[in-house]
Amino acid sequence: MKSSTSPRVRSVRRVATGCAAAAIATTVLFSPSAAFAETADNGGAQRNDGDNTVPLRSAIVDGPATNVILLIGDGMGDSEITIARNYAYGAAGQLPGIDALPLTGQYTTYSLYKDGARKGKPDYVPDSAATGSAWATGTKTYDNAVSVDINGAPQQTLLELAKANGLRTGNVSTAEIQDATPAVQVAHVASRSCYGPDSASCGADALAAGGLGSISEQLLDTRPDVTLGGGSASFTQTAKAGDWSGKTLFEQAEGRGYQVVKTAADLAGVTAANQEAPVLGLFTPGNFPTRFAATTATVGGANTPVSCAANPDRLGTDLSLASLTNSAIDLLNSPAESSKGFFLQVEGASIDKRDHSADACGQIGETIDLDEAVRAALDFAEKDGNTLVIVTADHAHTSQIVDSTPPTSLSTAVTTLEGSVMKISYGTGAAGGSQQHTGAQLRVAGYGPGAANVVGLIDQTDNFFTIANALRLNRDTAALSAGAKATLPKTVFAPGETFDAALTGLAGDRQITGVVASEPVAVPKTDVLAGSATIPLTAPTELGEHTVTLTGSQTGTIVTARFTVTADGQPLPGGATGTGGATGNAGGLASAVNGALASTGAAVFPILGAAALALLAGGTALYRRRHNRPIPRA
Ligand SMILES: [Zn+2]
Repeated sequence: MKSSTSPRVRSVRRVATGCAAAAIATTVLFSPSAAFAETADNGGAQRNDGDNTVPLRSAIVDGPATNVILLIGDGMGDSEITIARNYAYGAAGQLPGIDALPLTGQYTTYSLYKDGARKGKPDYVPDSAATGSAWATGTKTYDNAVSVDINGAPQQTLLELAKANGLRTGNVSTAEIQDATPAVQVAHVASRSCYGPDSASCGADALAAGGLGSISEQLLDTRPDVTLGGGSASFTQTAKAGDWSGKTLFEQAEGRGYQVVKTAADLAGVTAANQEAPVLGLFTPGNFPTRFAATTATVGGANTPVSCAANPDRLGTDLSLASLTNSAIDLLNSPAESSKGFFLQVEGASIDKRDHSADACGQIGETIDLDEAVRAALDFAEKDGNTLVIVTADHAHTSQIVDSTPPTSLSTAVTTLEGSVMKISYGTGAAGGSQQHTGAQLRVAGYGPGAANVVGLIDQTDNFFTIANALRLNRDTAALSAGAKATLPKTVFAPGETFDAALTGLAGDRQITGVVASEPVAVPKTDVLAGSATIPLTAPTELGEHTVTLTGSQTGTIVTARFTVTADGQPLPGGATGTGGATGNAGGLASAVNGALASTGAAVFPILGAAALALLAGGTALYRRRHNRPIPRA
């Protein structure tokens, strides 16, 4: 490994700093490009520094990892990486973040058709929803799907699993936080545009229709420790069903203990983020403004080279993607909270969006922005020593570096760092329309424990398993809730007396619902924080024995506790006080429904609807049995 740089590199980097690119990191993890002579000389452009066998061998580190940071450049294919490098660092230069990862492979990204004769066959050009779902869940699915399989069954995500295993979690994007890439870690919907309670596309996923809710509402349920991005507009919408019906999602977030932050100053004031007080930072109504001002590609446009200009509307650098990445890492890795490690996903979203708009400078700026976030992640990982960093994209995109101005398709030319001209063509859409994604395989790069698993030709779904294995995630969430128990403060209550049930050991679940019987009274849906919850209850007015039955929303685990109501709240003479304060029951029915959020093909119940029905039927039967059973006498 070499850390020295030749005068050529230094001069290139100095220009880059004063030009388009931002600060250049000095640390080089692995340095195939550290030494250049003039590129016209024999060997002058080579990136290898002699034999790389030894540094490559030392870059292969056994897992497990304590932390994983997954960085996604949306739409960042090889073209987009090369274009940004050429522009900002030169053809012989190096992106300080993306190009510093020592282990690289390629992965396939195709999605699957959902319907008709082609159901299950490859769709060679995927969207961000299918591709994000692939790495978030390990299951290939259809375009438009957010972490549901081709039959609509919700699939457990890395973020959900990390949380269930006691790790801390974060989700950062320059897009609306409801956009597909951030959404795939926190929600399960059939249609990616189901952003909020007002989204007509939610259909059966809407809370009012008995579904899990819109992406924004599910985000609040999933409760990552840190969420940073855009998309505040959806949180001003009002819930139409559920316990928070009639309240805006911002009101709901605050009511459920979130620290809602809307400015860089707000974020700077946050000192801790955890399950009791997670951070929801939404800094723009929609997507973040881009770093560079937009350029418009035209037919013949590459005949007149331009330079990229700063976008005056860009957010302050304290809200750059690198800055938000550092904030998230700081909060997730704080000594008080980091004992079990963390999983963090970071997305540079608008490489894709500017590519769709045939905006060369826009996409270049967003790629540089992501690269700086990668550098921030690597700087942390290098110091930490137990962090796996993976950098990749979701799907390839339109932009191509071409030799001459295309006669029929849109193009733009930019003057690069070296003063040369790079012509960029957009040939998959008409002027003013949306350019298309493309179907080529993508680069995937890794650093740290377990990174060897990105090498070679893999599939996007491999990322799920690489990360789950690196973090040693137990994917059997029902097992993580199997030790659940409920404890009541005493065993006998007066009619109408209020008390709390303390629930512990329900790590596989994020919410709990329940019923107090005999006359059934619903228990409010309650957030389970790190396996524990405090559930406010009211003793029925009917004298006799009663049961509270609590059901974990994600695993279907059932916990019961029994108590007695007497007229004066005192035990009956002879000790007929029921069964005692705490009875845990996480077996039986729970094991029958633990596929509610499973992995298709590896689990018990492939369809949530079926699991929910089974749960409903089972829960009702259980309730009836308990209700009809004579009160046991001690
Ligand atoms: Zn796109």
